[in-house]
Amino acid sequence: MDCLFCAIVAGEIPSKKVYEDEALFAFYDIAPQAPVHFLVIPKKHIPSCGAITPENSAVVARCFEAITKITKELGISEFRVVSNCGETAGQTVPHLHFHVLAGRDMTWPPG
Ligand code: 5GP
Ligand code: ZN
Repeated sequence: MDCLFCAIVAGEIPSKKVYEDEALFAFYDIAPQAPVHFLVIPKKHIPSCGAITPENSAVVARCFEAITKITKELGISEFRVVSNCGETAGQTVPHLHFHVLAGRDMTWPPG
C-alpha cells in the first residue's frame, strides 16, 4: 500500500522520532503549527478516526496512554490533541494520527 505514514513507520522516509513501541510510532510534524507539534500513529494502517471498530479500538487507547507519557517526558502539562477525519476536516494523510500541539495559546473554535 502506498501510504506516507506506513513508509515513515517502516523507516523508508526519515522522521524525527519522539516515541516508539510495538504498536505505536510518534514523530515531530514536518510543518509544525505550534512550538511543539508531534503526531502519534498506530503502526498498523487505519485510514482515520472514522474507521475505529471494536476490533481496532484498543490502539486508540494506547495512543492516548503514549500522549500522556510523551507530554510528561517533555514537561508539557497543557496541550491540544486533534485528529482530522476526511478532506473537509483537514485530513491530508489517510493514516490515523493524533496531532499533539503545545507551547502557544490555542483558539477555539479551531479554524
Ligand atoms: P492531517 O493534515 O492529515 O491532519 O495531518 C497530516 C500531517 O502530516 C500534517 O500536519 C503534515 O505537516 C504532516 N506531514 C506530511 N508529510 C510529512 C512527512 O513527510 N513527515 C512528517 N514528519 N510530517 C509530515
Ligand atoms: Zn498507512
